[in-house]
Amino acid sequence: MSMCRSDELGLQASRQQRAKPMQGPIIIVGAGQAGVQVADSLRQENYAGRILLIGDETHLPYQRPPLSKDFLAGVVTEAQLLLRTPDMLARKNIELITNIRVNAVDRAAKTVALSDGRVLAYEGLALTTGCRARPLPMQGGAHEGVMTLRGIDDTRHIAKAMKAADNIVVIGGGFIGLEIAATARGFGKTVTVLEAGDRLMARAVSPVISEYFRKHHESRGVRIRLGAKLVGIASHEDHVKAVETAEGELIPADLVIVGIGIIPNTELAQAAGLECEGGIVVDASSRTSDPSIVAAGDCTVRRENGRMLRLESVQNAVEQGKSAAAALMGRDRPFTACPWFWSDQFDVKLQMAGLSAGYDQAVIRGSIDDGVFSAFYFRDGKLLGSDSVNQPREHMATRRMLDKNVSPTPEQTADLTFNFQTLLK
Ligand SMILES: Cc1cc2nc3c(=O)[nH]c(=O)nc-3n(C[C@H](O)[C@H](O)[C@H](O)COP(=O)(O)OP(=O)(O)OC[C@H]3O[C@@H](n4cnc5c(N)ncnc54)[C@H](O)[C@@H]3O)c2cc1C
Repeated sequence: MSMCRSDELGLQASRQQRAKPMQGPIIIVGAGQAGVQVADSLRQENYAGRILLIGDETHLPYQRPPLSKDFLAGVVTEAQLLLRTPDMLARKNIELITNIRVNAVDRAAKTVALSDGRVLAYEGLALTTGCRARPLPMQGGAHEGVMTLRGIDDTRHIAKAMKAADNIVVIGGGFIGLEIAATARGFGKTVTVLEAGDRLMARAVSPVISEYFRKHHESRGVRIRLGAKLVGIASHEDHVKAVETAEGELIPADLVIVGIGIIPNTELAQAAGLECEGGIVVDASSRTSDPSIVAAGDCTVRRENGRMLRLESVQNAVEQGKSAAAALMGRDRPFTACPWFWSDQFDVKLQMAGLSAGYDQAVIRGSIDDGVFSAFYFRDGKLLGSDSVNQPREHMATRRMLDKNVSPTPEQTADLTFNFQTLLK
């Protein structure tokens, strides 16, 4: 994690000055999930002033989760991805500026400089700049036919290349890589997933879930290579031809899709001197180290239990967006709900609730063989979270139990006759 200017007193100062609601223009940088939420929530907070939502993409604000799933599969249209129509934004008097980048923030003058030369004044500023896909850091990573997926245009390029490809190699066995692999198999392609670690989705799920998904992908014809060490991409006339492993093997590929994580877009915040540490540092109410500036979504990190936590999820973008709007209005609306996330791969819905890192006991409830089960995680007998496979009810029950701070015992959890609802009355 990189550390840019650390302003230890900043967050404190920010809290002390929270009482004064904004009246002048509020500028939101980044028109994605979090940015749209900040704008919407400002109106819900009865903010009557100008709201400018500025995004550097050419598209209207859209949701990203379907990009590696139904949109890539061609069963969802661009119109169905939109978070808000122009009409909806107009009704709330939210001024959307697309295809324009915010190049700089001058905190002293309280202005932002736009890529078209305009300089706009703000009273409140929300940074919702998201993140970008991490490029492949090796020889051949920039060849034609080597692609990453973050936006609509990326999906379009991948979908087009996928049609023409026979052999597809996905580098990275995380959520996005596996979702793309499942979609590509749906088109009947030969798909190989290369994962450097010893199991799939290792950052987010426990070994039992990783193993279930490895088997499921393999049963659907995806080749999974764990512990894969890559040295480069071989090409012919600058178009990818194969992926080369450290053992000297050449895995044929007409299309390589790289899903090896993200880089948060913090450059603007760093240049403006805001505290950043692998993300823009915010508190639970989405305040940055500057009292006039909030931040929300994938570009942020917050301190929790002595470590920096970055959640890259729709829920986080939405909840932090709500907190950020409240904070700009001088109100405290901390995001304290239990984190949750989902991923769709083939016919399997994986839903995660809570943060299970550091668990000392895992309890399986249901049948792994039937593909309908949950893994519940405990520390010192207390529920930390769960990963549910085709078990939406148990996912919802975990969220409610964590939000209410109640915990079943591991024994109750293992007992299929035990109903979690008895704890939630
Ligand atoms: C393929 C894919 C699948 C996903 N699947 C799931 C899922 O199943 N479940 C889930 O919970 N989450 C999923 N996510 C994650 C989820 O989409 C993100 O967490 C969410 O979009 C974050 O919203 P955000 O507003 O922080 O960032 P973004 O949606 O990335 O929006 C940020 C916007 O800011 C713009 N921007 C950046 N810098 C500037 C600047 N200087 N000036 C102007 N504009 C700027 C960016 O171009 C972008 O449009 C997925 C993401 C991807 C890419």
